[in-house]
Amino acid sequence: SGGPDDMPQEIWDKVKNHPCYSEEAHHHYARMHVAVAPACNIQCNYCNRKYDCSNESRPGVVSQKLTPEQAVKKVVAVASEIPQMTVLGIAGPGDSLASPKKTFDTFRMLQEQAPDIKLCLSTNGLALPDLVDEICKYNIDHVTITINMVDPEVGAKIYPWIFWEHKRLTGVEAATILHRQQMKGLEMLTARGVLTKINSVLIPGINDEHLIEVNREVKKRGAFLHNIMPLISEAEHGTVFGLTGQRGPSAQELKAVQDACMGGANLMRHCRQCRADAVGLLGEDRSEEFTLDKIEQME
Ligand code: SF4
Ligand code: SF4
Repeated sequence: SGGPDDMPQEIWDKVKNHPCYSEEAHHHYARMHVAVAPACNIQCNYCNRKYDCSNESRPGVVSQKLTPEQAVKKVVAVASEIPQMTVLGIAGPGDSLASPKKTFDTFRMLQEQAPDIKLCLSTNGLALPDLVDEICKYNIDHVTITINMVDPEVGAKIYPWIFWEHKRLTGVEAATILHRQQMKGLEMLTARGVLTKINSVLIPGINDEHLIEVNREVKKRGAFLHNIMPLISEAEHGTVFGLTGQRGPSAQELKAVQDACMGGANLMRHCRQCRADAVGLLGEDRSEEFTLDKIEQME
């Protein structure tokens, strides 16, 4: 017990040892990300492709891209140095399902070589419905989908384009397809018993009030957590946003939306927006100790 008030006990039992879901566990269990997914199949207005996917990471971070073989080598090396290492995630630097072979090769090899490590992935959801069966093969117990809207008119302000069936689509048409795929993917994961968390990026003036509706829709479809993250808008990150002059929310604005969504899908307030190659306990980042050249030397 000790879980959030409105979280069912059976879900809490599954996530209480997961550093990303439990305030308590994140002091004792470590997670790492490997950056094996370079490509992306959509464009978010707040994303600068020079950096990691800003759906999961803080903007302005560049992770070291790895091949699946290098990633597996790294995970095995980290797990032998950091015994609390329990969770391996793929969260970029692009979308984990836009280059699915790299993601699933990594999971397959890890499942063979380090079967105790839990796997998770995060995605914008566009390719998700087609890959749910594949996801279920690898015993992935957590998926994160970034969902910033449930109304394609709002979506058209956030996503300038998607790449879909070999074509680039724009505007409301693009946002309609993305929305459909996100809802379908979430429903399919729920139907198969895969725990699914939703990330939303709070963009003042674009989706702030709308996120309450997002919260209602994702809860209805079985999301067990809804993590509302602030848009981080800082000039030193290269003015990440095609939304020209777009500011991020103040702490009060963020809290107001989070409070308005309480009693909806349980909100997760301690997500640190870790980089795509983060290593260690949640409050720390030991990625510099485990760069590729250092791992090669460990052998
Ligand atoms: Fe960037 Fe991630 Fe959006 Fe792709 S899904 S455009 S990598 S923020
Ligand atoms: Fe966990 Fe959030 Fe960090 Fe991902 S970005 S490892 S969900 S705290």
